[in-house]
Amino acid sequence: MNKFSWFEAKTVDEALEQVNATVSEVLTTKAPDQPAVFKSGGIDLLDLMKEGLVEPQKVINIKNIPGLDTISYIQKSGLKLGANVTLAQMEANTDIKEHYKALHQAVAHAGTPQLRNMASLGGNLAQRTRCWYFRSLDHQCLRKGSGTCFARNGENEFHAVIKNGSCSSVHASSVATALLAFGASVEIAGPNGKQRTVPMQDFFVSPGDDSSKECILESNELITAVIVPPVSSKTKSFYIKQGARESYDWAIADVAVVLQMSGRNCKNAVVALGAAAPVPIVSDAASAALKGKEITEQSAEESAEASMKGATPLSKNAYKVPLFKAIVKRAILQTT
Ligand SMILES: Cc1cc2nc3c(=O)[nH]c(=O)nc-3n(C[C@H](O)[C@H](O)[C@H](O)COP(=O)(O)OP(=O)(O)OC[C@H]3O[C@@H](n4cnc5c(N)ncnc54)[C@H](O)[C@@H]3O)c2cc1C
Repeated sequence: MNKFSWFEAKTVDEALEQVNATVSEVLTTKAPDQPAVFKSGGIDLLDLMKEGLVEPQKVINIKNIPGLDTISYIQKSGLKLGANVTLAQMEANTDIKEHYKALHQAVAHAGTPQLRNMASLGGNLAQRTRCWYFRSLDHQCLRKGSGTCFARNGENEFHAVIKNGSCSSVHASSVATALLAFGASVEIAGPNGKQRTVPMQDFFVSPGDDSSKECILESNELITAVIVPPVSSKTKSFYIKQGARESYDWAIADVAVVLQMSGRNCKNAVVALGAAAPVPIVSDAASAALKGKEITEQSAEESAEASMKGATPLSKNAYKVPLFKAIVKRAILQTT
């Protein structure tokens, strides 16, 4: 690991004055000579530094900035999660457990208790893919600025089966799958007091649009919070994650289903998929297949089939197509 200086930020403004690069820019050599990047829990940043993939000259510790580590829930306005809230805090929060079941399930199944104690929500959304070619110093892949996705004709068993035409890596956040299904937005602070709030759907960047980054964050921006809209007693949700092993691992497939029910009828549905495409996605076809229908074995099966319509599996990951169909159907049936 390279030598670096440490800056302890006490306010958002102080952090923004110090930063000059995102990890994506450092990886694609778009950063200045002396890159200064944010660290919250440090799980992903320190992994990348230990692997020798990024060598920031300055690490800006944002973890102790007051006010970014709180969760507030108001029935009428919804949930506000500070960027430094840990996954463990979210897991233990009774409002999330009661009103946002799929989100509770997603955080409770992410990593291990030790990881969840350190992992911040902001860092979780801004973490980089775990594709082994991306994480290998020996492979200068598309995401690091070359023209090649090595996974396409290589070891691609955990890779994307949808929208995988350029880069086929998948995003590592399973928490984002649930946030996407609930229609969450990301609150971002920029220089000179600027703020923007971006729907989760627009927060992630498809490699077809820009393979050098996985989210829209600019080098002078900091996530301050995630806002999740209010739900009613008629909102039902469920989340399922399938990993390669039961103990702890990233998802090879995960799904979050949020339904607005009227009796047994589904008035509106959102089916979100993680580890299906390079970034978490809402399956419009799977969601539409449930709208206005009674939730039955048949409608759940139709939605599950629709979720994988147009999938283009690679040489070693065709198993993901029936896997997604199975967990989508199971999640829908367990939602009501
Ligand atoms: C073995 C293992 C299993 C895992 N399993 C899962 C899983 O199942 N599901 C899942 O979702 N995750 C999983 N993870 C990933 C883990 O949850 C993330 O690494 C963690 O959430 C990152 O948070 P952090 O606070 O440590 O981020 P950091 O390492 O501090 O930061 C990560 C990135 O985000 C940037 N950043 C941090 N905070 C902000 C901010 N507020 N604004 C702008 N940029 C910011 C940093 O500059 C850096 O680029 C796993 C990790 C490991 C090691």
